[in-house]
Amino acid sequence: MEALQDGSAQCPCCDFYSLRERGGFEVCPVCYWEDDGQDLDRLDEVSGPNHITLRAARLNFERMGACDSAAVPLVATPEARDGLRREQRATYF
Ligand SMILES: [Zn+2]
Repeated sequence: MEALQDGSAQCPCCDFYSLRERGGFEVCPVCYWEDDGQDLDRLDEVSGPNHITLRAARLNFERMGACDSAAVPLVATPEARDGLRREQRATYF
């Protein structure tokens, strides 16, 4: 897989700058969350396209490197995302 390029927008799930824009229903190559515009202010709302809450997806990313278990084989390898900008945001579980 090619190295990922920095996007201008931060993924609400994995906190990498992996998206071109927010709310564009773009699938994040790092965690496979589909960005429907939901963010940390709506952590416990079930996301339509993702079928889980953002809180659960963020926890999944921390535990297994993808927004849900089905996406584990699909996400970028650690090598491919190496160097991609990330500003990790705190979530209080
Ligand atoms: Zn992501």
